[in-house]
Amino acid sequence: MNKKYEYIIIGQGLAGSAMAWRLYFNNKSFIIIDSQAKFSASKAALGIYNPITGRKNIKTWNAETLFKELGTFYKKVEKSLEIKILYEKDIYRPFNNNKDVNDWDTRLGNNKYKKYLKKIDKNGIITKGSGYLDVKKYLKETKKYFECQGRYKINNIKNEDLVNKNNNIVIEGYNFEKIVMCRGINEKKMNLFSEIPLTPVAGNSIKIKSNHFSDYILNKGVSVFNFTKKKLFAGSTYDNGYINEGTSHLKKKIKKVINKEFKSLKSYFGIRPASRDRRPLVGKHDIIDNLYIINGLGSKGVSQSPYCSKELFDYIEKNKKINKEINIDRFKS
Ligand SMILES: Cc1cc2nc3c(=O)[nH]c(=O)nc-3n(C[C@H](O)[C@H](O)[C@H](O)COP(=O)(O)OP(=O)(O)OC[C@H]3O[C@@H](n4cnc5c(N)ncnc54)[C@H](O)[C@@H]3O)c2cc1C
Repeated sequence: MNKKYEYIIIGQGLAGSAMAWRLYFNNKSFIIIDSQAKFSASKAALGIYNPITGRKNIKTWNAETLFKELGTFYKKVEKSLEIKILYEKDIYRPFNNNKDVNDWDTRLGNNKYKKYLKKIDKNGIITKGSGYLDVKKYLKETKKYFECQGRYKINNIKNEDLVNKNNNIVIEGYNFEKIVMCRGINEKKMNLFSEIPLTPVAGNSIKIKSNHFSDYILNKGVSVFNFTKKKLFAGSTYDNGYINEGTSHLKKKIKKVINKEFKSLKSYFGIRPASRDRRPLVGKHDIIDNLYIINGLGSKGVSQSPYCSKELFDYIEKNKKINKEINIDRFKS
């Protein structure tokens, strides 16, 4: 007889990793299955978390709650793994024109923005409350940690592997109670959650070598930050759909922002799993009793995944309601 698990998690990107750690911290038994896709959104992610985002510099949805959870969660992971993965870094946003100056003046009249202000002068603004997660290290070390405990298998779970037996999913060779789908954009190709509006947003990022050094994350059309004295991570591009547009456009922007020569070290590509209303997609399947999902993390997987795993865990184990803004039920007709 196979070992019995309370949970099986399919997919180990940011969503699946957050769910796994959530279960681990709460002493639940689980196994993760991941296909080790060469390209995934998480593998391409810069890892930035930032309370004021987008072209219009808007405060992130639910920022206080998300960021409080993020800090506690990744610090607990760091402690378990005995490594550092979370780095606080302020963001420097140079002004392009007078409109930028005026827009920031208006924003700073509002306390919800003012609390993130570190410094402002005629050239730009420095905001705080941001930083980055070393996503590659987080994914790699999480895999290693759970693999050593026999909680990890490499396997590509196809539609035909998922058998509906009396409104419960079973997979041959695995003995489990509940299944949590964390397959990112790949979920769209499956037929289990066809009602949720998952949309693909392709993107590129790049690691470069340059003499440019800054303590800040530099944000001007692109985001660039040093992860060592001479190495920087930069991105990202946003293209609706699945097409890899390459990094030439991104490189031009980087050149403009850092104003120094650089050498490309490695480029990355991934498809963000976004949703129509730009909120995560968390919940239980309509009909199948043991089937759950965390998806729709869009461009904010680092800050949203810890909160989403908590909402799902509390729903399943503590009978709490999932925040209706992220519950997949909102798309029920
Ligand atoms: C260029 C780029 C830059 C980004 N920068 C940031 C950033 O700075 N900050 C931020 O917060 N977010 C960023 N994001 C967004 C972030 O990457 C996503 O929100 C997040 O990675 C989504 O995670 P996920 O686990 O849902 O999906 P994914 O990362 O796609 O993970 C899905 C996993 O499931 C596995 N899988 C899929 N199908 C199967 C199957 N059938 N069987 C088994 N396993 C399967 C895959 O192998 C993969 O490991 C960026 C994204 C891109 C593309």
